[in-house]
Amino acid sequence: MINAVEALTRLREGNRRFVAGESSSALSSSARREELVAGQEPFAIILGCSDSRVPAELVFDQSFGDLFVIRVAGNIVAPSQVGSVEFAASRYGTRLVVVMGHTQCGAILATLEELQGGATSQSRNLRSIVDRVRPSVETLMSGRRPPSGDDLVRDAVRANVRASVNHLRHGSELLEKLIQETSLLVVGAEYSLETGVVDFFENVPVAAQQGLFGTAGLVR
Ligand SMILES: [Zn+2]
Repeated sequence: MINAVEALTRLREGNRRFVAGESSSALSSSARREELVAGQEPFAIILGCSDSRVPAELVFDQSFGDLFVIRVAGNIVAPSQVGSVEFAASRYGTRLVVVMGHTQCGAILATLEELQGGATSQSRNLRSIVDRVRPSVETLMSGRRPPSGDDLVRDAVRANVRASVNHLRHGSELLEKLIQETSLLVVGAEYSLETGVVDFFENVPVAAQQGLFGTAGLVR
């Protein structure tokens, strides 16, 4: 299995091809599909939003078997999402987890609407999503100089991604163990609907050189 830094490089290169309109044409070849019947070894785990405009395989120009993708509205982290990440990381040895939010996320907009006194959802199920998003957005809005307008939406999207990253880093004994022992890396990112660019929140290779994530597994 490739390490987290290599996996991140692969995602960055794929996104660059996607943005440049140079996506690979053989993404869904039947040969590759048949090859994978025997087993999979996805090199990255992506926790992304269900939004129809943010398909992980396409924006990273990856094929069958490359990405283990979990999609849920608002890229929230509830127990089943933690369990899915735990499953892939321990079963396949995948070393990189990316939580990917996106600009103009409907789940974030719905949460902001509710916090600003707008309509509240009557559905308990829908509320369970908004309730997961709300704490980080509330923190943002209760600051000394809370952002407003487009800035508020942008900051809320990023705060929500960071909350999900923190939850994955610290909300699971198994993942904490993998982070310490195998240098599993959990990073946040934001996809821009407008440009197609994925902006990773941390410059991981630099951080790895500085020892911020523990370099042992990263250079293996
Ligand atoms: Zn969304």
